Amino acid sequence: MAYAYDDQNIFAKILRGEIPNATVLETEHTLAFNDIRPQAPVHVLVIPKGRYVTFDDFAAHASPEEIVDFHRVAARIVAEAGIGPGAGGAGYRTISNAGADAVQEVPHYHLHILAGRPLGRMLDRG
Ligand code: AMP
Repeated sequence: MAYAYDDQNIFAKILRGEIPNATVLETEHTLAFNDIRPQAPVHVLVIPKGRYVTFDDFAAHASPEEIVDFHRVAARIVAEAGIGPGAGGAGYRTISNAGADAVQEVPHYHLHILAGRPLGRMLDRG
């Protein structure tokens, strides 16, 4: 079954300029901004401008240009924050929550980039 996109989700409102955001980087297809409730010193959300609900929706249905642009923006954020281990940074974690079991709060695809402190193991058991 195809995903139904909810135009009233908070990231759709951010993309329409109806509510403010702390933009880190913006391109033709992608917006990156600071999470309003940061879980680490670096907590950036990367979102496509297109109407995609989850990672798998984006990966299956976005254009090659959107997919490349999205990942290049994520790479630029890692580079500009100096967190990439390949450039001497201490590392980072990317997370994308999808659906109920992953506790996805906002039904517009987003990639969390977290860094700036030890992040523990991948999953807790909560
Ligand atoms: P998720 O649980 O993966 O859907 O994460 C949604 C994230 O969006 C959470 O980390 C929220 O803190 C964040 N968030 C919600 N509203 C806003 C907003 N207006 N600006 C920035 N981040 C937001």
